[in-house]
Amino acid sequence: MSAQVLDGAAIAALIRVEARLDCERLRARGAKPRLAVVLVGNNPASEIYVRSKIKACAEVGIESEKLTPEEGISTAELVEVVESLNAREDVDGILVQLPLPKQVETRQVLERLAPEKDVDGLHPANLGRLLSGRAGLAPCTPAGILQILKRSRIELAGREAVVVGRSELVGKPAALLLLAENATVTLCHSRTRDLAAVCRRADILVAAMGKPALIGREYLRPGVVVVDVGTNRLSARSDVEKYFPGDAARLAEWERRGSTLIGDVDPRASREFAAAYTPVPGGVGPLTVAMLMSNTLTAARARRGLAASV
Ligand code: NAP
Repeated sequence: MSAQVLDGAAIAALIRVEARLDCERLRARGAKPRLAVVLVGNNPASEIYVRSKIKACAEVGIESEKLTPEEGISTAELVEVVESLNAREDVDGILVQLPLPKQVETRQVLERLAPEKDVDGLHPANLGRLLSGRAGLAPCTPAGILQILKRSRIELAGREAVVVGRSELVGKPAALLLLAENATVTLCHSRTRDLAAVCRRADILVAAMGKPALIGREYLRPGVVVVDVGTNRLSARSDVEKYFPGDAARLAEWERRGSTLIGDVDPRASREFAAAYTPVPGGVGPLTVAMLMSNTLTAARARRGLAASV
């Protein structure tokens, strides 16, 4: 079977073009959508993510600013930062880049975001809206997964969807979004018994555990659609050769950087058994930033009482 590659990068690029047109419409009405990104400390991965978010804002026409509190900030001090952004009329969206340093109570900070500016969709009010099927701001990565599936015309209604991973950021909201599309959803986690047997039921399998290539051949039913959310680094050359046999580009990347990315699904298994799958990188990852742009514009419009078509 020749598996279809679900090109997340291309879908994300299209969503960003749509966002740019949408932003132009808003600006024509005098609105200046604005995103504030809070980046605490110097986590190198977070710095890279924030840079790409700010760059995407510039491309789309969303104004942006970056706030960089010190690594040692307390929960109360960070709540103050968030509340000052809540109070600002010119700010439509607030994104607190996760993870936060250990001393900060992440949930307390997220709970103090104004829900209408919570463009990452992690405030309990937004998660509640998702649970109850109301329109709102859905977390960006799971919203991106839905976009990949829908824009690739993967049928969801009535089909078995298995989601592995139950985080608030990815797994749980992904399960709720699939349920809202009338898929029959099973949500798995580290205590699920015989994970392989449960996964083999899937027409659509979403893997979001953060465990490199854990999902192997014995987890996949032939013809399954695989959405691989995992982003893990492989640093041993023998692993690169094992999972990407004969892939000169991967090996060259490993030689250049000392590592290469791999998802939670063994890429050999996806190629062999899946009808369609998202690659890593270039699958789910690019959608996260694209959906942040889309959510920021949704927030900007909602705050001004403008309909989606305006
Ligand atoms: P997380 O908060 O660490 O959650 C991991 C989930 O996987 C937990 O629910 C855990 O179960 C489950 N799990 C762990 N080991 C398992 C196993 N052996 N079998 C079954 N379930 C297992 O991670 P996350 O934030 O959801 O992220 C998951 C992955 O997605 C990571 O690789 C992350 O880097 C990636 N990610 C990618 C993007 C993107 O834009 N591409 C965005 C976000 C995250 P328990 O609840 O029982 O502990």
